[in-house]
Amino acid sequence: MQKIYNYINGALCPPSSDSYMPNVNPATAETYSWIPDSDERDVELAVRAAEAAFPAWSQLSASKRSEFLLKIAKKINEKMDALALAESIDNGKPFSLAKAVDIPRAEQNFSFFATAILHEHTDAHISENKVINYTLKQPIGVVACISPWNLPLYLFSWKIAPALAAGNCVVAKPSEITPMTAFLLSEICIEIGLPAGVLNIIHGLGAKTGQSMVENPKVKAVSFTGGTSTGAKIAAIAAPHFKKLSLELGGKNPCIIFSDCNYKKMLQTTVKSSFANQGQICLCSSRIFIEKSIYEQFKIDFVNAVKELRLGDPLEKGTQVGAVVSKEHQQKILSYIQTAKEEGATILCGGDQETVSGRCASGFFVQPTVLEGLSPSCRTNQEEIFGPVVTLTAFETEEEVLTYANSVKYGLSAVIWTENINKASRMAMQLEAGIIWTNTWLLRDLRTPFGGMKDSGLGREGGFYALNFFTETKNICIDIDNH
Ligand code: NDP
Repeated sequence: MQKIYNYINGALCPPSSDSYMPNVNPATAETYSWIPDSDERDVELAVRAAEAAFPAWSQLSASKRSEFLLKIAKKINEKMDALALAESIDNGKPFSLAKAVDIPRAEQNFSFFATAILHEHTDAHISENKVINYTLKQPIGVVACISPWNLPLYLFSWKIAPALAAGNCVVAKPSEITPMTAFLLSEICIEIGLPAGVLNIIHGLGAKTGQSMVENPKVKAVSFTGGTSTGAKIAAIAAPHFKKLSLELGGKNPCIIFSDCNYKKMLQTTVKSSFANQGQICLCSSRIFIEKSIYEQFKIDFVNAVKELRLGDPLEKGTQVGAVVSKEHQQKILSYIQTAKEEGATILCGGDQETVSGRCASGFFVQPTVLEGLSPSCRTNQEEIFGPVVTLTAFETEEEVLTYANSVKYGLSAVIWTENINKASRMAMQLEAGIIWTNTWLLRDLRTPFGGMKDSGLGREGGFYALNFFTETKNICIDIDNH
C-alpha cells in the first residue's frame, strides 16, 4: 500500500518515529495509504532546512522566484486529472468538483502570486522638502502554514504561494485527514527543481506536528486555516512570542433572501451555497433567512431542488453530493441533526445518513438536510455544523433579519439576495461579516481581502493583503543634507 513521505530539505523522507497512520477513503471506509506520524524532531529538521535556504531564496530576484512558482502552476495544470482524482479519493468530494474547482484554484494560487509579486510596490513619504521616508517590505524568514481538510490543495497552496513569492521559506502541514495532494505537491516541487529547504511539507497530527510548528522559536509567523478552537490554541502559543498570526476560522453564514430578488438565480445558487462540497466549505450558507411573503413558495421550491441532488459515488459522473470527510465528522453532523430534533426542528428533507450501493456501501454519507421551525438563538442556529445541514427562518423587516444574522459569534461571510441595490448596500454596511456577496456566492477575485471578523478570525488573505502578512514593513527616514 502506498506510503506518504515528508518533504524536507528537497527530499522525500520517512518520519523520525518511523510510524505511520492509516489514510482512509471516506467514500469506501477503506484504508488506502499510510501517513507519517511526524513529531517535533521532523519539525526541527524542516525548520533548520528552511532557515538554511532562507538567505539564498530571499535574495533571489522576485522574477526568479516567480519563475519557480509558475513552473509549479504549470505542473499542477499538466497533472489536473491525477490531482483531482487524488483529492476526490482522499476527501470524498465529487471528482467533478475537484476537477472544476479545487485543482484549478490551486494552479491559480501559484500563478496569481507568481505574478502578483512582480507588481509589489512600496510607499514613499516626503516631508518638509528635504526629508524622505521610504518603506521596505522584507520577507520574515521561516513561516508555518497549516491548513484544513475541506479544500485540501486549494487552501494549502493559498498560503504557501504568497509566503514563497514574498521570499520566505515555509514549513507546511496539511490536515492529516487529507494529506495526499500535499504529498503530490512535494513530488512536483522535486520535479521542477525548487531549491532544497525552500518549502518543507510535514505530515502528522495537528496536536503534535502542527503544535510543534507553532511552538518552534525559529518560526516567525503562522498562517492557519481551521476551526475556531484550534485557532484560539494557536493564538495562545504564538502571542507571548509575538509571532505574526493570520487566522481563518469557522463560520455560521447567513443567506438573506428578500422577495424582490431574481428568484430563479437565487434558488439555483442557494442550493449550491448550502450543499457544495457536502456543506463543508467555511463560506457555505447554513442559516437561510427568507422574507415572509415568499417563505412558503421558497420552502417548496428549495426542498424540491435539494431532493433532486444526486448523492453517490464521488467518482461517478453526475454525482453532486459525495461522502463527508470521515466517520467522526459524519457522527458529528448526525448528532447536530439529533440536537435540532430535540430543539423542535421539523425535517423538511434528509435528516439521516445515507447508504450508497456498490463499492461505497460502507462510506460516510449524509443526506442533504433542510430544517425549519427553530429559534435563531438555538444551538443548531448558533454552532458550526460544517456539513450538509441548513435551517430556514422567515423574517419581516430588514432590522429583524440583521439581528438574526448578526446574533452568532462568527462573522465570516454573508449572502444578500435583492434587486434593490440601496437595500443591499444598507444591509452590507451593517452585517458583521468579512466577505459579503450580493446576488451571487463564492465569486472570487484573488486580489480582494479574504477573512472574517469576530470568532471567524484575524487578518486578511488575498492579493497584497497576503503579501503584506508575509513581510515585515520597515520605514527608512533620510534627512537630505542641502549644502
Ligand atoms: P482543525 O482546526 O481541526 O484543523 C486545521 C488544521 O490545524 C489541521 O491541519 C490540523 O491538523 C491542525 N491542527 C489541529 N490542532 C492543532 C494544534 N493544536 N496546533 C497546530 N495545528 C493544529 O480544522 P478542520 O481541519 O476540522 O477544518 C474545519 C474547520 O476549518 C471548520 O471550522 C471550518 O470553518 C474552518 N475553515 C475555515 C476557513 C476560512 O477561510 N475561514 C476555510 C476552510 C475551513 P490535523 O487535521 O492533522 O489534526
